[in-house]
Amino acid sequence: MSESSSSKIIKVSGPLVVADGMKDAKMYEVVRVSDKQLIGEVIRLEKGKASIQVYEDTSGVGPGEPVVATGETLSVELGPGLLESIYDGIQRPLKDIEAASKSPFIARGIDTPGLDRKKKWAFKPIVKVGNKVQEGDVLGEVKETTLITHRIMTPVGKSGKIIKIESGSKTIEEVIAVIEGKNGEKHEITMLQKWSIRNPRKYKGKKMPKTPLVTGMRILDTLFPMVKGGAGCIPGPFGAGKTVTQQSLAKYCNAEVIVYIGCGERGNEMTDVLQEFPELKDPNTGEPLMKRTVMIANTSNMPVAAREASVYTGITIAEYYRDMGYNVTLLADSTSRWAEAMREISGRLEEMPGEEGYPAYLGSRTAQFYERAGYIECLGSEGREGSLTVIGAVSPPGGDLSEPVTQNTLRVTKAFWGLDAKLAYRRHFPAINWISSYSLYLPNVQDYLKKEIAEDYMDIRTTMMGLLQEEAKLEEIVRLVGMESLSSKEKLIMEVAKMIREDFLFQNAFDATDAYTSLQKQYRLMKLIISFYKEASGVIDQEDFDFVKLQELSVRSDITQASFIPENEMKKFDDIENDIKEQISSLR
Ligand code: ADP
Repeated sequence: MSESSSSKIIKVSGPLVVADGMKDAKMYEVVRVSDKQLIGEVIRLEKGKASIQVYEDTSGVGPGEPVVATGETLSVELGPGLLESIYDGIQRPLKDIEAASKSPFIARGIDTPGLDRKKKWAFKPIVKVGNKVQEGDVLGEVKETTLITHRIMTPVGKSGKIIKIESGSKTIEEVIAVIEGKNGEKHEITMLQKWSIRNPRKYKGKKMPKTPLVTGMRILDTLFPMVKGGAGCIPGPFGAGKTVTQQSLAKYCNAEVIVYIGCGERGNEMTDVLQEFPELKDPNTGEPLMKRTVMIANTSNMPVAAREASVYTGITIAEYYRDMGYNVTLLADSTSRWAEAMREISGRLEEMPGEEGYPAYLGSRTAQFYERAGYIECLGSEGREGSLTVIGAVSPPGGDLSEPVTQNTLRVTKAFWGLDAKLAYRRHFPAINWISSYSLYLPNVQDYLKKEIAEDYMDIRTTMMGLLQEEAKLEEIVRLVGMESLSSKEKLIMEVAKMIREDFLFQNAFDATDAYTSLQKQYRLMKLIISFYKEASGVIDQEDFDFVKLQELSVRSDITQASFIPENEMKKFDDIENDIKEQISSLR
């Protein structure tokens, strides 16, 4: 640390501190503010005056107190031990800061490293002495948790010949390998690396994402699919199901690593998540979900600036696992809190406000964040590929989607899962509106669904979507002139659309069987409904056809119950298909 005695606070405004005598400071440099050593970051520099956003409570801090520059930018520590951790916005482990503060209220100026310095990890080398390595090449592995093997990569900017590498039980600060560079310089490599959070991590190139991120939620996977490496947005008013949806994704989506950034809406909401999440088990392996998860928590008693940093801390950790060759999903709930933090800081900087008081750079910051998603070819000579999917919840005040945070997010995300207060009120869950939602990734996953699941997957999906759209149009007519005015064909559309809504789209996140549906089962379920539609289309034109008979067929309740058929009893779907044919032809 370079202490320049002339650096002094001249103004304190909430999380923003202005200091002069800072001409040697750099943008985004980390500083320690006041005798309390609060952690801050330089966010504006003007003629030796620095505006500093402070990640801790600034009450009691005043003009005249010192500011010390650290010469470092705000960085995260990367290495084994990230998984299962719960951090605050600047990667301080919550349990450590709580222990150091000796209470759940966080004391200030506490220096707690992101990764445990004492814990030993069994390092297993992959390369040998004499091998040449380049940046990104995997040097060795550590079994980080029962679910994830942590790959120790050659740090960015380093390359050369391995002159020493040893297996053994090591802490993250012990040297595990020595690389000799081109000019004979020796690089000692440890399992601990640092990365500045505002810079995206390096990769070789982006590729077109083509594999679906299977979430097990039928409305998402079948109607509005996400890809591994995609970016999506879940806007929804308070109580519509953002948190339940994000948590379902965290539980069931087929990414290998999850980074969950929580910015609590109400006082204790984040605390609930923090208590519940560590209890959850992976439905496939029975292992605790935390074994593949890193959580960043902003409880409401944490300062706004930490919220601003938390999305960068989270996404940098997510990129690090992506670089190992994993499919990573980052969930941020809710990004509106992040935007509000930006607005508050910007206001205190007295910047020219943009729309609704948000800073003019809201759009570019949002874009920069979501652009860090992607399906990539990793650094290194091995041709590894990894992906980072970013899904952000947005909470527009009053559900008004025209507000700036939603609009800016929509511009840069390609899947839009719009939660609808009306559906939530009717207790139709997930309350995702099937008319206004969309996914531009449909063409990306088409080939996969056709090849891996069923040749006619897309055709059936198109028919199903078409019926829902027809229903929306017909509803208007029904409202005006009643059901009687509809033709029998239209009546059938209304009937089948109802089946699609109630038997396919409706899904209870709290029911163990219903909460997750494989793609194979999603296909079989929608096929039942569409078979019903097709068979029924052949009989409804008979004179005096009685619709009630169609509604009363026993196969109707079999279709309703089909979502509860266990994944290993798919044969039951064949039986129902047969019953549909038989029972409907009996109406002839
Ligand atoms: P938000 O985060 O948008 O304020 P929540 O995610 O907390 O809303 O959801 C509010 C309530 O709606 C939940 O407590 C739950 O009762 C219900 N809910 C939301 N989604 C589902 C779902 N998929 N299945 C069952 N219930 C749901």
